Amino acid sequence: MYAWPASKVPVLPGQGPDLTVHDTARGRLHTLEPGPVARLYVCGITPYDATHMGHAATYTAFDLVYRLWLDSGRQVHYVQNVTDVDDPLLERAAATGVDWTELAERETALFREDMTALRMLPPEHYVGAVEAIPRIVPVIERLRAAGAAYGLEGDCYFSVESDPRFGSVSGFDAALMRELSAERGGDPERPGKKNALDPLLWRAARPGEPSWDGGTLGRGRPGWHVECVAIALDHLGMGFDIQGGGSDLVFPHHEMGASHAQVLTGEFPYAQGYVHAGMVGYQGEKMSKSKGNLVLVSQLRKDGVDPAAIRLALLGHHYRSDWEWTDAVLDEAVARLARWRHAVSRPEGPPAEALVGEIRAALADDLNAPEALAAVDRWAETQEREGGAETGGPGQVSRAVDALLGVAL
Ligand code: ZN
Repeated sequence: MYAWPASKVPVLPGQGPDLTVHDTARGRLHTLEPGPVARLYVCGITPYDATHMGHAATYTAFDLVYRLWLDSGRQVHYVQNVTDVDDPLLERAAATGVDWTELAERETALFREDMTALRMLPPEHYVGAVEAIPRIVPVIERLRAAGAAYGLEGDCYFSVESDPRFGSVSGFDAALMRELSAERGGDPERPGKKNALDPLLWRAARPGEPSWDGGTLGRGRPGWHVECVAIALDHLGMGFDIQGGGSDLVFPHHEMGASHAQVLTGEFPYAQGYVHAGMVGYQGEKMSKSKGNLVLVSQLRKDGVDPAAIRLALLGHHYRSDWEWTDAVLDEAVARLARWRHAVSRPEGPPAEALVGEIRAALADDLNAPEALAAVDRWAETQEREGGAETGGPGQVSRAVDALLGVAL
């Protein structure tokens, strides 16, 4: 699958610091030290109701990671998937009388437009579940051959007990795991499973559902966790630097993915860091497809909102916090964008070296974008109050805000 066009990232003088970020598996901050090529996997959308502010906030967080790594002199191999066949997609298609492939294509196209408008750097590999099936099937077959998977009425399940490190990503207890499994696409109540938490690897063909050739597995379609594992291992290999996503993916999705990969390869860890973005609420509830309380990037764009202001609104909240989207949040961002653009519109201004250092330091400290924004605010205030004698100061600020925050002034 193709991704979307990349905006050019200005190269800043000097080199940024390494990223210290909160790792869910360690339960604390951890400084990542990627090699010359940093490896990032971020779970993509299931293509319907794209792109709401919860999605946009998550992808903004990992876009900052990408930009920081570039600024530290590294290349970045970024992989993202699209779950273009799954129960929720098929259910939505059936409920609205739309062909599921059309729905997936239309929503993926909309997502690409939104990502381009928000200046998100594109993944090098943007991979759909359907196109990855020939890679997913052998992964399941190998798990089965290793005794880590079993059949149940034609379906195939992963045995969580085959991984002695199961639980090492979330650290959750069995009761919470069971509760979350039921909430987030698992089937802990299904009779005949070895462990209630065991997730589906392969769902045998059902009448009226799409299915593909699964070799020794028979016709069917893949489970969600193994989809990401097959794609990540194919393009990044074990021990990649960051597995990212929203905090609702900690369990079961990222826990199961890590277990699948660790059992499959005998290596640990699957990822050096598990990084999770908070949830964005609207009108008192988590923004989600099931609640129907979505604020869409495309709708705001249609209403004439500058995508740079949407991006600033997202950056105004720390990525790990849960927060609420309101009209005031957007109004503040629009005003801030206008202040910044006014401040950089003259050739002279206060020196920018210190500001570039402040933005770098704030972002390297667990992606503290609100602190980076506050530093630019202070520079803009000084510029408006005193102006300054240094030619090129505003230009340097505008390049730094572009390169590190992805906002074009
Ligand atoms: Zn995933």
